[in-house]
Amino acid sequence: MPTPKQRSRSQRRLSRVTPKGRNVVHYERRKGSFPHCALCGAELNGIKTSTHAKGRSLRTNSRKFGGVLCAGCASNVIKLASRIEQGEMRLNDISVRQKEFVLQMIAH
Ligand SMILES: [Zn+2]
Repeated sequence: MPTPKQRSRSQRRLSRVTPKGRNVVHYERRKGSFPHCALCGAELNGIKTSTHAKGRSLRTNSRKFGGVLCAGCASNVIKLASRIEQGEMRLNDISVRQKEFVLQMIAH
């Protein structure tokens, strides 16, 4: 019987044959999924998914909305927030999904 920690499905099972010919099951931690942009769904750049990635700069970006939005979407949100603050656009002119981040930007 496997030990309790090996009954969890968060570990994947790999069947391996040892040099002596025995069939054994190896357990391996599943890899985390890659982070995606909250607006367009693109994979985020500059982020390591490895569990060995130590240090804040390896796990996220230091830019505004780093680790949440891709560079293009973050740029658009910052532009829209600026235009709304200046009175060139109204909050109702932008999409509902962008509005959430624009409001965060204006609050700061
Ligand atoms: Zn995006």
